[in-house]
Amino acid sequence: MNILILGGGGREHALAWAVKQNPKCDRLIVAPGNAGIAMVAECADIDILDGASVVTFCEENAVDFVIVGPEAPLAAGVADATRAAGLLTFGPSAAAAQLEASKAFTKAICDACGAPTAGYARFADAAAARAHITAQGAPIVIKADGLAAGKGVVVAMTAPEAMAAVDDMLGGRFGKAGAEVVIEEFMAGEEASFFILTDGTNALPIGTAQDHKRAFDGDNGPNTGGMGAYSPAPVLTEAIQAQVMAQIILPTIAEMARRGTPYQGVLYAGLMIGDGRARLVEYNARFGDPECQVLMMRLGAQALDLMLACAEGRLDNARVTWADDHALTVVMAARGYPGDYAKGSVIGGLDRLPEDSRRMVFHAGTRTDGAKVTANGGRVLNITARGDTLAIARDAAYAMVDAIDWPGGFCRRDIGWRAL
Ligand code: AMP
Repeated sequence: MNILILGGGGREHALAWAVKQNPKCDRLIVAPGNAGIAMVAECADIDILDGASVVTFCEENAVDFVIVGPEAPLAAGVADATRAAGLLTFGPSAAAAQLEASKAFTKAICDACGAPTAGYARFADAAAARAHITAQGAPIVIKADGLAAGKGVVVAMTAPEAMAAVDDMLGGRFGKAGAEVVIEEFMAGEEASFFILTDGTNALPIGTAQDHKRAFDGDNGPNTGGMGAYSPAPVLTEAIQAQVMAQIILPTIAEMARRGTPYQGVLYAGLMIGDGRARLVEYNARFGDPECQVLMMRLGAQALDLMLACAEGRLDNARVTWADDHALTVVMAARGYPGDYAKGSVIGGLDRLPEDSRRMVFHAGTRTDGAKVTANGGRVLNITARGDTLAIARDAAYAMVDAIDWPGGFCRRDIGWRAL
C-alpha cells in the first residue's frame, strides 16, 4: 500500500523507519520530512495544516493510508478532511483531539467519567484567579487552556509566582489559547507516559516511557520539548497500568464515544504516580516526541499493522508482540536551545554510525544538500538504541553520540538516570 505520514520531526522519522520495514508498505511519502527521513521515504512539500491540500495530494498519489504525526494538523481537522474524502486515516478528529487541544475540555471529561486527576478551577478573570490562588496557597499549577507549544504550564512553588503566571497568560501572552486559565492542585510523585491505541471502542496498550524535559543534566535548566526518553517506564508497573486502564483510559474512551466524538488514534496519557496510584496529568492526541522514537524502536514493523487495525476498527483482534528489552534515546540539540540557537552548523560522523534494528539515528531538525548534513532546528538528532537492559541501551546510545562530530550541538549525559 501507499502510505503518507504527516510531519517532519524525530517522531515521524521513527514512524517512517518502522512502517518502511513492514512488507505491506509499497510506497512511503512523508510531508514535509527532513534529511534523515529522505533516506527511507520520499519527502513531499505540502501544507499539512490544510486538509484540502492533503486530500488532493493523496488523490494524485493514490495514497491508501494517512498517518498524522503532530498535534497541529489534528487540531486543524486534517484527519476529518481525509476521512471525509474516504481515506483510511490514523489520528483523531478535531473534536476528539480536544483532549489535547483544551485543558478545560479534558478536565470536563475527567469529571464526567470519574477519572482521577488534580482538582481544578477555571478562570477568565484575573481577579477571581488571584483570589483562588490566595485561598489555595502554593505549590499550585497554572495552565493556559489552549495549545501553547508546551509552554503554557507553570508549576508555581510560591503564590507570587502563580499570580505572575495568571497575569501573563490572561494578559494575552498566548493569544486565544490563554483567554482562559485552568488552576490545578499540585500533584507530587513521579511522571510517566502510557500509550494506548484506540479505535473508538477497543483499547490496546502499546507501551510506556519516561522522558526528560529539562535542558541540562540532573534535570536542571529550562523546560524543553524533551531531551531524551526511555521505554519501558519501571514506575508503570502491571498493577498501575491495570488501574490506569480501568479508571482513566476505558472511561475516557467510553465518554468520548457517548458524546458522539469517538477517539481514534493513539491516546498518550501523561500520568503522575504517587502513593501507589496514578492520576492523569494530561492527554496528548499523538505520539510523544522523543517517546515515539523508543516505542518504534521496540515495536518495529508491527507498528504499521497496529495503526492499520486502529484505523479500521479492528483493535479487538490486535496483539502486540514485545521483546523483553529496553530502548533509550538521547536528543542532540543546537547550542542555545531552548533559547536562541544558530542554524546551519555542519554535523559530521553520521555516515560512520551503524544503523540497524538496534541502533538508529532519527533526525529531527536537519537539512542536507546531498553532501553534508546541517542542523536546521533546536532539537536536531535522536540517538536511539535498544538492549537487553536499560544500561546496555544507554551505553550503546552514548557510544554513537561520542562518534558524532558536531561542535554546534549538545546533549544531556544522564538520560535514564531515574530508572538506572
Ligand atoms: P502538561 O502540559 O499539562 O503536561 O504540564 C506540563 C508539565 O507540568 C507536566 O509534565 C508536569 O511535570 C507538570 N504538571 C502539570 N500539571 C501538574 C499538576 N497538577 N501537578 C504537578 N505537576 C504538574
